[in-house]
Amino acid sequence: MEIITFVIIALVVVFALMLCFCLAVASFSFDNYYEKLKEIDQKRNSLGVSTLEYVTELNKNHFDGKLQIARCAEFYDNYSHGRVALSDKTMASNSLASLAIVSHELGHAKQDLTSDKLTKHWRLIKIGRICGYFFMPIMLAGVIVSVLNLLSVLQGLVFLILGIALMAVAFLIFLFACVLKHKEIKIEKEASNFAIEYLNDFLMPPEVEVCKDFLKSAELTYWASLFRTMFSWTLLTRKCPMFR
Ligand SMILES: [Zn+2]
Repeated sequence: MEIITFVIIALVVVFALMLCFCLAVASFSFDNYYEKLKEIDQKRNSLGVSTLEYVTELNKNHFDGKLQIARCAEFYDNYSHGRVALSDKTMASNSLASLAIVSHELGHAKQDLTSDKLTKHWRLIKIGRICGYFFMPIMLAGVIVSVLNLLSVLQGLVFLILGIALMAVAFLIFLFACVLKHKEIKIEKEASNFAIEYLNDFLMPPEVEVCKDFLKSAELTYWASLFRTMFSWTLLTRKCPMFR
């Protein structure tokens, strides 16, 4: 067998294995996350504090009371620009799930108040969303020009270069989306590490372990999101926004 054939076969096998692994992670991670969420939502924290009391205490101890605590709709708990928004249900809850989720949001608050990485990331996501609108039209235009050039309908070097250039621009947008998703994983991981520090101040070690395990399952969903974006072109992954 010629060496080149061997290399091509090896590359195809490696790609197929990678694709299988990534698809498996993508489909497992979300189910796993919701299962874990359901499980630890049943577990009450040993101190019996509500999430609102917990956040208020952390706000006082770690943020000099500077964080604004606001209300939001159920399932939309979030942190944004110095404001932690919690649903009524989360505020009243004393489950380990609520404490873990809120601690993670406070982890983002710490990132925001101690560095500009969150602001920079949000800015890049905004730019990415605009680029995302152009991805499909540019890719399609590139493919159409290239095909017409191959069929000699559009003749000349200029159309060959134009087709390749359009596809290259679309590829760069795709690469930008993958890089941002990878950066997001690092940001989420750091927020969860801060969350574990906060939880350690309040909870018993076995409770912290349960929260850690839950936060890890949340982290896996971000990997799944990256894999879905990376392999979206194979049409084998569930649709996932390129930039969110
Ligand atoms: Zn997060």
